Amino acid sequence: MTSRSGPLKRLLGLVWTHRGECVLIIFLQVLILSLAMGGLALSGVGIDVIRHELDPAAPTARFPFGFALPALHGMPLVGFVAGLILALAIIRLGFNIFYTRRVADLVQGRIVVDLRNGLYEKLQRLDFRFFDANASGALINRLTGDVQSVRLFVDGVVIQSAIMAISLGVYLIYMLNIHIGLTLACLAATPLLLVVSVAFSRIVRPRYLDHRRRVDRLVLWLTETVRGITVIKAFAQESMARERFEAANDSVREQQFAIHRVLSFYAPSVNGITQINLVILLAYGGWLVIHNEVALGSGLVVFAGILQQFSGQIASIATIMNSAQQSIAAAERIFEVIDEPAAIASGPDARPLTTSTGRIVFDDVTFAYGPGLPPALDHVTFTAEPGQFVGIIGPTGAGKSTLLSLIPRFYDPDSGEIRIDDLNVRDLDLGDLRHRIGLVFQESFLFSATIAENIAFGHPAASRDEIERAARTAAADLFIEALRDGYDSRLHEGGVSLSGGQRQRLALARAVLSDPAILILDDPTAAVDTETEREILKGIERARRGRTVFIATHRLAALRGASLLISLDAGRVVQIGTPGELAAAPGYYRTLLQLERDDDV
Ligand code: ADP
Repeated sequence: MTSRSGPLKRLLGLVWTHRGECVLIIFLQVLILSLAMGGLALSGVGIDVIRHELDPAAPTARFPFGFALPALHGMPLVGFVAGLILALAIIRLGFNIFYTRRVADLVQGRIVVDLRNGLYEKLQRLDFRFFDANASGALINRLTGDVQSVRLFVDGVVIQSAIMAISLGVYLIYMLNIHIGLTLACLAATPLLLVVSVAFSRIVRPRYLDHRRRVDRLVLWLTETVRGITVIKAFAQESMARERFEAANDSVREQQFAIHRVLSFYAPSVNGITQINLVILLAYGGWLVIHNEVALGSGLVVFAGILQQFSGQIASIATIMNSAQQSIAAAERIFEVIDEPAAIASGPDARPLTTSTGRIVFDDVTFAYGPGLPPALDHVTFTAEPGQFVGIIGPTGAGKSTLLSLIPRFYDPDSGEIRIDDLNVRDLDLGDLRHRIGLVFQESFLFSATIAENIAFGHPAASRDEIERAARTAAADLFIEALRDGYDSRLHEGGVSLSGGQRQRLALARAVLSDPAILILDDPTAAVDTETEREILKGIERARRGRTVFIATHRLAALRGASLLISLDAGRVVQIGTPGELAAAPGYYRTLLQLERDDDV
C-alpha cells in the first residue's frame, strides 16, 4: 500500500521529469503578469495625466518606479499612454495564446498520454489474481477519469502555485512601492482570507475520494449492463437496470451537490473579506490622495486594481488545494495499480521454450484462490504423455478450469510444481510458454476485426496461408468461405453475427494457428446444442492430431477418443485411468455413461 505522502512524492517526481517545460510555462506566465501589471500602471498614469490637465495644481503624472514620461502634454500624452496600453495588451494576447498551447501540449499531449500508456501497459502485465479482485469498470474509470485528475496536479497545482507565489510577490512589491502604510492597512484582513480558504479545502478533502468511488460504481454498472445486455433483455429487466443506474447516478449527483454546497459559501465569504480590504483602501487611501501623499490614478486606482488581484490570488489557494486533494486521491488509485506486483512474469534467467514434446507433469500441486479459501486443487499429481488426449471430468466446482489455467500460468500453484518437458513452468519464458499452448474457453471472446485478424490474433504476422490452414484444422474453413467477404468479413463487436458453433471453431483456429504442442479446451461445448457440439467436435478431432490435448467437459461426446481420464472432486483427483478403467469402477464417468444409456432407452 502506498502511504499518504507516497502519491504526493510520486506526483512531484512526475513534474520533475517535465521540469524544463514547467519552467518555460511559469516564465511565460510571469511575462503575461508583468504585461498586465504594466497595463494597469499605465491606466493609472493616464488618469493622472487627465487630472493634471483638468487641474494644473494637481501633481504631475509620473511613471511608476521613476521612469520619465516623454515631453508631451495634453491629448498627445494621453494618446501616447493609451497607445502603450494597447501595445502591451496585444503582446499579452500573443503570449497568452502561446502559454495556453504549451500547457495543453504538456498536460494533454504528454502527461496524460504517458500515464494512460503506463497504466495500460501495467494492466496487460498483471495476472488474473489482480483482475479477480478488481472490477473492470473501476479499472476503466482509473484509466480515464483518474488520469485526468492527475494531470490537474501539474497545471492546477504546481504551475498555479508557482504563478501564485510569484504574482503575490510582485503585487506586494508594487503596493509597497506605492505606499507602505496603505499596503499594511489594506492587507490587515488577508490572514482571515487564508484561514477561510484552508478551512474550506479541509472540509472538501475527504469528499473527493468518496466521489471517485461513487463514479466507480456508476461505471461498473454501466459496463456490466452493456456486456450483459442479452440477459437484461431476456429477463425483461430493463427498468431494474435503469433504476439501478439512476440510483448510482443520483448518488454521484448528491455527492457533487454536497461538495458544491460547501463551496457555495466559499466565494461569498471571500468576497466579503475582500470588501473589508476595499473599505480600508477607500477610507485611508482617499485621505492620502486628498493630502497629496498618493496620486489618484497611479496611486489609488492602481492600488485598488492590484488589491483585487491580490485577494483573488489568495482566494485561489482554496482551488489549488482542492485540485491537490483531487489529484492526490486519483494518484493514489493510479499508483496502486502501477505498484501492484506482477506476480506472474518471466524470471531474469527464464529459459526459452522453442519446441515442446507436450509432456506435462503435475507434481503434488495445491492451489487456493486466496488466503483463507479452501484449495481449488488439492495435492494433484498426474502425467500426460506427448500426444495424449486427456479428459478432465467432475462436477461443477471440482477444479477442472483451475487445473487447466495453471498450465499456461494464469495462476501459480501454492505448492508442488508443474513441468513441461521436465522443465518447471515457472522457469520458462512466459511468452514462449503461452505460445506453445493453444487455448479455447467455454465462451470465446472475438474482437471487432476481420475473421482473418481474429484467427491471427496471437500472431499478427501470420500469412494468409497459415490462417487458412488453421481454419481447415479447426473445420472452420467451409463456413468462412461461405461468407460474402470470406476471411475478410468483419465481425461486429464481440462477433455477434456468428453462431455459437462458428465462434468456437474460430477460437479453435486461433488456438492452433501457431501449431502449439499443447491444446487446452475448457468446456468448449458447454453452451451449445448437440448439433453444434458435433460441428465443434469435428474441429477438435482434427485439431488434436499430434498434440497433447486437455479437455474439461461434462459431455461424454467430447471425451470420445480420450486416452486418459482424470476425475476431480473438490480439488482432489479421485480417479485416474483410461476410459475403459473408469467405466469399470463406480464414479463420475460411469454415472455419465449410465445417464446416457438411460437417455437412449
Ligand atoms: P470447475 O471448472 O470444475 O467447475 P473451477 O476450477 O471453476 O471448477 O472452480 C474450483 C473452485 O474454485 C470452486 O469452488 C470455485 O468456486 C473456485 N473458484 C474458481 N474461480 C475462482 C476465482 N477466480 N476466485 C475465487 N474462487 C474461484
